[in-house]
Amino acid sequence: MRAAVFKEVGKPLKVESVADPVPREDGLVIKVGYCGICGTDLHATREGLTTACCGQILGHEYVGEIVEVGPRADGNWEVGDRVCSIPFLACGHCAACATGRFFECQDKLLSGVNSPGGFAEYVNAGSRETLLLPDNLELERAALIEPLAVGIHAVRVSDLKAGSRVMVIGAGPIGLTVALWARFFGAREVVVSEMADTRAELARKMGATGVIQPDPSADAETLLAQFSDVAGGPPDIIFECVGAPGLLQQCIEMAPQRGKIIPVGVCEQPDAIMPFFGLVKELHIQFAIAYTRDDFETCIAMLGEGRIDISPMITDVVDLEQLPEAFEALRTPSHQCKVLTRL
Ligand SMILES: [Zn+2]
Ligand SMILES: [Zn+2]
Repeated sequence: MRAAVFKEVGKPLKVESVADPVPREDGLVIKVGYCGICGTDLHATREGLTTACCGQILGHEYVGEIVEVGPRADGNWEVGDRVCSIPFLACGHCAACATGRFFECQDKLLSGVNSPGGFAEYVNAGSRETLLLPDNLELERAALIEPLAVGIHAVRVSDLKAGSRVMVIGAGPIGLTVALWARFFGAREVVVSEMADTRAELARKMGATGVIQPDPSADAETLLAQFSDVAGGPPDIIFECVGAPGLLQQCIEMAPQRGKIIPVGVCEQPDAIMPFFGLVKELHIQFAIAYTRDDFETCIAMLGEGRIDISPMITDVVDLEQLPEAFEALRTPSHQCKVLTRL
């Protein structure tokens, strides 16, 4: 099959012929329809805590059609079923797996990180980690289920109450899905802080009730004043969806008494905070990562029923041959949001 392969840090992906995946005993092989490019993929090609092995096929936001069912696969899967997969190949018999928290399985492989992923014609998927798509949900939109699941998970973890004032820092794909779900779950105000014009515009289309565009040098006090102007008061919950050093401290300074901070952005560097400021306000800082099976099921249902619209986020669709170039282009911020590869 054809696949885009990660060769080494500093080199673009390379499209080449590789061996077809062999189905695992309890797994499935999926013919990929679309696979989104994610920040995690970009991280995997840089030196850091999540650098992929050389020769790996990246891509974990894939949807497609089942072409092979392993002899010991769970469920009633049939060739031709249209599906999306939670991108883990988990053990299937631990407590985490039993409750659909595959991310917490100690014995899992991550598809597109340490098991070949979806920037390829075919991909191995877990039979328990795969979900059927409703007939009316096109594969192109379904490719957004994974980032949607990250967003819904963060909002659920925040225990957002209807009527809350919410601040979302950063309007990348995760900030946007967080904004969408915060609105969906009844936030009174969802104000996104984003410096880039095109992303700020996108935030409005995705359900933000307001957008603030702070100066890069703005301190916490200025940012909070801008937020309160638009939202009518301080943020009950702040979702930090960028992952840059310094932002957590800024959130601590902005949060009101007993406010909540949900770091969702991936920060792989040391980041100093002053705990005292959080202490005197009795702040809740609750990190959020990945998703559960139920998060995926909810996203599929809401998308299938047309109760949420993610189409503004899809800014480009490229084919496999164009993927390496599109992938490199995403390293510098642009008007792009979610770029999908069509296989
Ligand atoms: Zn992703
Ligand atoms: Zn497990």
